[in-house]
Amino acid sequence: MRKRILLTTLIITLLGLVLYSLATTVITYRSLIETGRGYLTSLVLSLDGSGGTDAEAAASLSHAYGGVRVTILTSGGVEAGADRSSRTEVSAAISSGEGYATRHSDTTGEEMIYVCRRFDDRLVRLGIATSSQWDVIADSLPTLGWFLVLDVVFCLIFSAFATSYMLRPVELIAKHPDASVSAKYPELNPLTDILNRQNAEIREQLSVIEKEKQRVVSAQESKNEFISNVSHEMNTPLTSIKGFAELLEGGGLDEETKQKAYRIIRTQADRLSGLISCIINFNELENDELPCYDCSVALIACEVAESLRPDIEQRGLTLVIDADDDFTVPSRTERLTEIFGNLIRNATKYNREGGTVTVTVKGGKEPFAEVSDTGIGIAEENLDKIFSRFFTVDKSHSGKNGGFGLGLAVVKKLCDRAGWRLTVHSTLDVGTTFRIDF
Ligand code: ADP
Repeated sequence: MRKRILLTTLIITLLGLVLYSLATTVITYRSLIETGRGYLTSLVLSLDGSGGTDAEAAASLSHAYGGVRVTILTSGGVEAGADRSSRTEVSAAISSGEGYATRHSDTTGEEMIYVCRRFDDRLVRLGIATSSQWDVIADSLPTLGWFLVLDVVFCLIFSAFATSYMLRPVELIAKHPDASVSAKYPELNPLTDILNRQNAEIREQLSVIEKEKQRVVSAQESKNEFISNVSHEMNTPLTSIKGFAELLEGGGLDEETKQKAYRIIRTQADRLSGLISCIINFNELENDELPCYDCSVALIACEVAESLRPDIEQRGLTLVIDADDDFTVPSRTERLTEIFGNLIRNATKYNREGGTVTVTVKGGKEPFAEVSDTGIGIAEENLDKIFSRFFTVDKSHSGKNGGFGLGLAVVKKLCDRAGWRLTVHSTLDVGTTFRIDF
């Protein structure tokens, strides 16, 4: 870019200089001729036409005029027997009384200005040497040369400044890719606008890439955590099964211990199979791309609650259903069944003798569904953890509930994917309410 600007300014200024020199040469030459002509005219006008007509008279006149070349011709234009009447200034003087010409003189070998005037019996011609147009050009060449040198220096300095101003935004952006650039001159604003816009786009894309990277990293972490949790969950029943199987293999056990070992092996095997079903169910949800259709929320909630009523009542709990106000949401029956099933089962599992499980569904402008219980509640510090996979408040898994900590993760995932807001309110030893705003 620097080279191009330098070359362009150099060519333009050189052309300007040459043209300017030519113009001033022509003007100088013309002014020279006019001055010479004016001088000769003033001299010739001061003559009265008297005196001799020979070469001697001409010489004395030339002397008196400080060396001006003087020629005295007959009124017909003849000088010392030579006919000069065809010369421009002579023929003009013969016909109109006064003539003027500029030309190269073969006699003197110089460029001459002639002024000729007619008197009664003669013509008097005065001539002075002048410079030719080429002489004027040749005279101006050294000055022109200096100007050209100065021009090259000027152009070098100018292009250095100009390019540094023009390239500053680009250099700035290269040094600080995230900085906003501004130009000193409004002409550069379109360029800086483009640069700033592109800069902003790049920043945006970088932030998208960064987010995507974080997402991939967190997905990888989550996958690792998932595998580690699954291994841990599987290891406990497997160790138990292996231990009791070895005990049975060793023999020598009484009938009661044998029966106990069989029972434990079966319970732990059930637990393993339950865990595998939960994982398969969770993964199926992840890949569930089946289309939605309108589902009646109250209808499904009631069906699920009724199907769980025997278990609820068997635990000495009361089931309350407040779901007269039905409405539909775009979903699938199995998804809503999964949500209400998990919430109602938890409200049953984590309840207390004589407690209540309440299922509420309300339509209207802000439709929602709630599953409340009067159970053990969740401690404040665990409220934001309960939706994580494999999180359980009771880590021992030996309690009567013994869940894997996947139920609420499934509920959360289904709500998030549908765009529903899932919230929880709980007070320890008072109860818990899960609410879904559709
Ligand atoms: P789990 O299979 O253990 O029930 P969930 O994901 O359904 O797994 O629940 C995670 C944890 O949240 C449970 O282990 C339990 O400690 C707690 N929790 C869930 N629902 C309730 C509730 N209604 N009352 C008290 N604690 C609950």
